[in-house]
Amino acid sequence: MRLQTLEITGFKSFSKKTSLEFQHPVVCIVGPNGSGKSNVVEAFRFVLGEQSMKSMRGKAGLDLIFKGSKHLPKGTKASATIYFNNEDKVFKLSNEGGEEIDLNYDVISISREVYTDGLNKYILNGTEVRLKDINNLLASVNIGSSGHHIISQGEADRVLNANQKDLREIIEDALGLKIYQYKIRETERKLERTNENMKEVSLLRRENAPHLNFLRKQVEKFEKAKEMQMELSLLYRVYLKNESVYLEQEKTTLSSEKNKISQELATINAKIAEVEESGEKENGNIEELKKLEKASSEMRALKGELDRKLGRIEGMIEMEERRRDEMPDSVMVSAEEVATIVLDINNSIDEAISKEDIGEIKSILTNIKNILGRFNKKENSQNSGASSEIENLKNTQKDILVQIEALGKKDDDLSQKIEALKQEINQEMEALRDKEREKFSFKVKQQELSSTLDLISVKENNLKREEEAFLNEVKEGTVLVGAEILSFKNFEVQNIPPRNVQEEERRKIERIKMKLEDAGIAGGGEIMKEYNEVSERDQFLAKEMTDLTESINSLQKLMAELKEKIDKEFKEGVKKINKEFQEFFRIMFDGGDASLSVVVDS
Ligand code: ATP
Repeated sequence: MRLQTLEITGFKSFSKKTSLEFQHPVVCIVGPNGSGKSNVVEAFRFVLGEQSMKSMRGKAGLDLIFKGSKHLPKGTKASATIYFNNEDKVFKLSNEGGEEIDLNYDVISISREVYTDGLNKYILNGTEVRLKDINNLLASVNIGSSGHHIISQGEADRVLNANQKDLREIIEDALGLKIYQYKIRETERKLERTNENMKEVSLLRRENAPHLNFLRKQVEKFEKAKEMQMELSLLYRVYLKNESVYLEQEKTTLSSEKNKISQELATINAKIAEVEESGEKENGNIEELKKLEKASSEMRALKGELDRKLGRIEGMIEMEERRRDEMPDSVMVSAEEVATIVLDINNSIDEAISKEDIGEIKSILTNIKNILGRFNKKENSQNSGASSEIENLKNTQKDILVQIEALGKKDDDLSQKIEALKQEINQEMEALRDKEREKFSFKVKQQELSSTLDLISVKENNLKREEEAFLNEVKEGTVLVGAEILSFKNFEVQNIPPRNVQEEERRKIERIKMKLEDAGIAGGGEIMKEYNEVSERDQFLAKEMTDLTESINSLQKLMAELKEKIDKEFKEGVKKINKEFQEFFRIMFDGGDASLSVVVDS
């Protein structure tokens, strides 16, 4: 006998604590109508978790609490406690996770309390539990809500008239299959919740998907851009290093070349100046030669004049002599007069010799002519002294001859001088020509050197532009890739590449730069962060989906197992019941036949 004791306090007509001991399999409660026998049965129902107030003849929890009497006040709660023998540890209870709770009690006590506000409390061996726990606990000893274990007054009909569904429930309850039904119902609820969760999770994932896709694309772009940036960084450093070395080398080369050429040019310029200076001296000699030649030609003119004069004098002498011969009387001219005239003429000739200007010489000659004219006049007027005249003329002739001779001598000197000067000039000219040739070659060299210098300055300008481009490249690179590219300075290079290769590198950098600008790397960090968050959330939801799918599978499996178990145990149970039922029926009806049969698909 499992049932041991029932304690009732404040429940319906039992205002005070009442304890009923059940020491035998059959116990009889006897009493007049209205004494409270049914209340005891209801106390059983109550403590075993009955939820139908109607079955306890009430409308609300309050109806179960003692209402008070003439002598006793009304109660604030109704409570009932039932004690079961559990020495064989038949009572079982498991928690939410399906793990069994240790119920190592020899006696199991179940209490239920109801308060005036309708609140219910369930207590298992002194610990408050849920109604569900009580149901599970009782199900483990085949006591369920179908109430097959309590057949109240006039209730036998209830079982006999029960429909197939209720009957099956009663039998399941009696067979202790209720626990499985609970489990199935719970599993169904779990399945429903899980399905709903899955719907929610799947909706969330669907809602997230476009944003996640967008972010993924952005991140891919960003990562690609990052890769490009890294590639660019390396290219930049190598390129900048090579370029800086090239610029330095070019600068040094150009500057030393410039120095060398400038020095050469200075030397050539000095040489040209020297040659030009020496040319000026030659000009002086030529001027001198011109002067001498002029003097010589003037002298020859004077000599010619004297020659002609001499001719005339000789003619006159001849004429005078003929006249003297023809004339008996000769005209006498005093020696003094002749001497005066000769002196005059001599002086005039000396003067003429000293002059260079032909005009002046001519005027002196005119003067000489006048002297002679006057002499002639005198001779005519005097008509005398022909002999002295001849003598005078001869004296004049002599003078002129002397003068001519002197002139000839002077001319010879002059000619010699001219000849010498000419030779000197010729030599100088020869030397000058040599120098001119030398000067020409210097000039050619000078031209060459200035052209080279011009070329160097063009190269310098080009280099300056290249240097500016280099500095710009450093600036741009720093903005695009970061200050790390400045580390190009620490790079070691063996040989710098040829310019065409370096130019190709520059174009490559340019192409990546354009791509990078198109990709737009700005804000990548934020996007990356957001992507990680959204993606983590999506992964979490995906994991959740997998978990939920798994739990749906296992719940479905569990349900199938439970149903199978119920089915099997139900069929076996019905067999056993049928055996007992047959016997009882025969006892009760003194023979006859009765059986239960399982109607499939009812
Ligand atoms: P019968 O043999 O006629 O069926 P019984 O012995 O079964 O009667 P019950 O029906 O159990 O008697 O008891 C009914 C009695 O309980 C009534 O007298 C009723 O007044 C009393 N009762 C019911 N509810 C309460 C309550 N809340 N407080 C006090 N008394 C109550």
